[in-house]
Amino acid sequence: MIRTIVWNENIHETTSPAVADLYPDGMHGCIAAALNREEGIEATTATLQEPEHGLPAERIAGADVLIWWGHAAHGEISDAVVERVVEAVWGGMGLILLHSSHFAKIFKRLMGTPCNLTWREAGERERLWLTAPGHPIARGLPDHFELENEEMYGEPFGVPEPLETVFVSWFQGGEVFRSGLTWRRGAGNVFYFRPGHETYPTYHDANVQRVIANAVRWAANPDARRTGVTDAPNRPVADALEPIEQRGARLHHDGEDGFR
Ligand code: ZN
Repeated sequence: MIRTIVWNENIHETTSPAVADLYPDGMHGCIAAALNREEGIEATTATLQEPEHGLPAERIAGADVLIWWGHAAHGEISDAVVERVVEAVWGGMGLILLHSSHFAKIFKRLMGTPCNLTWREAGERERLWLTAPGHPIARGLPDHFELENEEMYGEPFGVPEPLETVFVSWFQGGEVFRSGLTWRRGAGNVFYFRPGHETYPTYHDANVQRVIANAVRWAANPDARRTGVTDAPNRPVADALEPIEQRGARLHHDGEDGFR
């Protein structure tokens, strides 16, 4: 089973009746329920309001994939949890960022760039085109699909050049956006998927649910998760495989622990 945590700040659901009507169990509840109908995926949820944002060390250690939805509370995520998530990704935990999570601390930290974009909230039609039809995240999808009402995100998107571009979106107002992007950070697979504005029923859409389930399977890297390379210090190698001669000054000595 791919152990998946669906994390949500869970703020709009508790402050906006319109969002609560669309997602009575929260967007996290909707996404987790769809994932739990899938073969081989076991999804649980976590929210900002829980101790340590629902992500204590032992929970993260037992996760193959973390899905993240954030918007209003990016600044409230503790640095300790950010570091915990980032180190888990380096150690092979898959990470899927949804919609406004483009501005999440964990995403900015992993990308190292501003992750900015342009946006407009007008309920426009979004048409997502598959740009990598053979990609595992695109499995079972038509060559394009539409969401009748979505927030517009436009280029330029301030992220590093991705490993793969799986989807590109067109919006009714004319903008385009790279809406499905992958990266590798350490041993961790990272996927950003654009749709999911809280006032529209996006996470009830069958194609969107298919993308997220595919992405969970793609992002999981259980072999790396078992090996565990997180928090690894630099490692001195005293003996060479071939005969070598010491040249120049040697500043570090055997058994010395200062250089990490
Ligand atoms: Zn939004």
